[in-house]
Amino acid sequence: MPASILVVEDEPAIQMLIATNLRRHGHLVVAALDAETALRQINVALPDLILLDWMLPGMSGLDFARRLRADARTRNVPIIMLTARGEERDKVTGLESGADDYVTKPFSPRELLARIQAVLRRGRPQATEDAVEADGLKLDPSAHRVFAAGSQVNLGPTEFRLLHFLMTHPERVHSRDQLLDQVWGDHVFVEERTVDVHIRRLRAALEDSGLDRLVQTVRGSGYRFSVAED
Ligand code: CA
Repeated sequence: MPASILVVEDEPAIQMLIATNLRRHGHLVVAALDAETALRQINVALPDLILLDWMLPGMSGLDFARRLRADARTRNVPIIMLTARGEERDKVTGLESGADDYVTKPFSPRELLARIQAVLRRGRPQATEDAVEADGLKLDPSAHRVFAAGSQVNLGPTEFRLLHFLMTHPERVHSRDQLLDQVWGDHVFVEERTVDVHIRRLRAALEDSGLDRLVQTVRGSGYRFSVAED
């Protein structure tokens, strides 16, 4: 499953190199030349991961990372810091500011991709290709297939992403706003009732197997994927 990656890098040549590489590996790339532009982009759609250059004009990458960590909406978006600094104390400062990993320039595209995959696997299981299974329901992202009690279930692309997110974040309540951010990548221009429509479709597709009971409504709060009784 492709991840949406925001690249914040003020050197156009490096930005282009990174973006081209990520796109070649199927990722969706949004790029910004400074932190202020990146913030506006994040307000529109939350990315799965941010590649953040340390030295930026205006707000530094370090201050930007701290700011993202201080805001509940962006607190859990993984950040990989890009920097020309290679000293141990800089690395510690970078990680203390809230970055999840740290890549020193010059880096090979291969190394960067490997680090991205590792961070995504840790923090964003829905952005990896790992199959997930719960109570007879199985979702395989690489084959784009869902099986309920052994039978294949046909889901639309949005229902598939929605189920993938819910299954990789089980036993937690997700508000409609959070689901729009995580599944649609857009909590501004998509209406909250859109979530209800796709939840209904998802449940209808799982009804024959009885596994629609795993997709639970939490009144007044949102939705939850749970193998426990509602
Ligand atoms: Ca720079």
